[in-house]
Amino acid sequence: MPPIRHISTINPVRPSERCGVSTAENNVGSSLAALSAAIAVLYTDKMAKRTTRRNRAPARRKRAAPRKQKRVAKKSTRLATTARVRRPPKAAMAAVAAGKTMSAWTADEIETAFRRFAAANPDPRGELKHVDPYTLLVAVVLSAQATDAGVNKATGPLFQVASTPAAMVALGEEKLRDYIKTIGLFNTKAKNVIALSQQLVERYGGKVPHDREALEALPGVGRKSANVVLNTAFGEPTIAVDTHIFRLGNRTGIAPGLTPFEVEVKLNEVVPDRYKLHAHHWLILHGRYICKATKPACDRCIIADLCKWPEKTADAAPPGTAL
Ligand code: SF4
Repeated sequence: MPPIRHISTINPVRPSERCGVSTAENNVGSSLAALSAAIAVLYTDKMAKRTTRRNRAPARRKRAAPRKQKRVAKKSTRLATTARVRRPPKAAMAAVAAGKTMSAWTADEIETAFRRFAAANPDPRGELKHVDPYTLLVAVVLSAQATDAGVNKATGPLFQVASTPAAMVALGEEKLRDYIKTIGLFNTKAKNVIALSQQLVERYGGKVPHDREALEALPGVGRKSANVVLNTAFGEPTIAVDTHIFRLGNRTGIAPGLTPFEVEVKLNEVVPDRYKLHAHHWLILHGRYICKATKPACDRCIIADLCKWPEKTADAAPPGTAL
C-alpha cells in the first residue's frame, strides 16, 4: 500500500490558473461531491504516476480516433443528465488546500460584501435573452459550454419562429439545428430541446414546471440549469454555481469547495437570506467582468479589501465604494 499524500501539499492557486470547470461538471450532483472529496484526500503516489501527462497522452490518442463521433455524442448527452466520475479540477483542489491557510470570512465581512454588491447593482439581471420561463429554459440548455452572447445570437431568430414548446416541436429537430448550429454541441442540444419541449407539452400543458425535481428530469437540464430557472423565472433564492462562481468561491475564500455542488452548499450557508435572491447574478457578473479567470481586475474590485486571495493585486476597494 503506497503512502497517502494529502492535498495540502499542492501549491496555492496562481493568477494564470483557471479555477473553473466545464458546465458538465457544474451539473454534478451531491453524490459526486462526496466521491470527489474522497478522491482528493486519498490522492496517492500511485495515482499521481498514472495521471502524468506523459503516461496519459498515448492512451487518449489511441481511443479518440475510431470513436470520435460516438464520444462527442456521449459527452454532450452527459451535459446535464449524468454525474461523471472524475477528479476535481486541479486548481480547485489547490484553492481548497490554500483555503486551509486563508482566514475564513466573518459574517460581518460577508454582509459588507453583499451590501456593496447590492449598492453597486440593486437589480442585477442575467445576460441570456428570454421572454418567459420557457425561452429562459431553452436558452439555459443551449448555454452549456457556450457564451451567453453566442446563445443570444442564435435564440434571437429562433424565438421569432418558436417561442413555445408546441411551436418548437412543430419546428422539428432538423430546422432547430439550423438555428443553433453556431453553438457548440448543437446536435445534442437540438435533440434535448425538442425532447424537453415534447415533455412540457405532454406532461405540463406546455408550461415550465415550478419544481426542481421536475425540471431536473427534463432532457438536458441539470442542477445548475434548474437553479437558474428557479431563481430567474420563479424568484426562488437559489444560487446556480457556474464556472465563474466556482472560481470566485474558491479564489476569494468565501465558499471553497471541490465541486460546484460543494460551493453551492457553502454559499447557501454563508450568504444572508436577504441577499440570496440576487446572489447568483452578483457573483456571476463579478466573476465574469472583475474577478476574471486570468488577470482579475483587483484594482476595480469592490471587495478587494475583504478578499482572502493571497495573490490579489489590491488591498482596498476603489474610492466611492459603499461601506
Ligand atoms: S481582489 Fe477582487 S478581483 Fe482580485 S482576486 Fe479578490 S475578488 Fe477577485
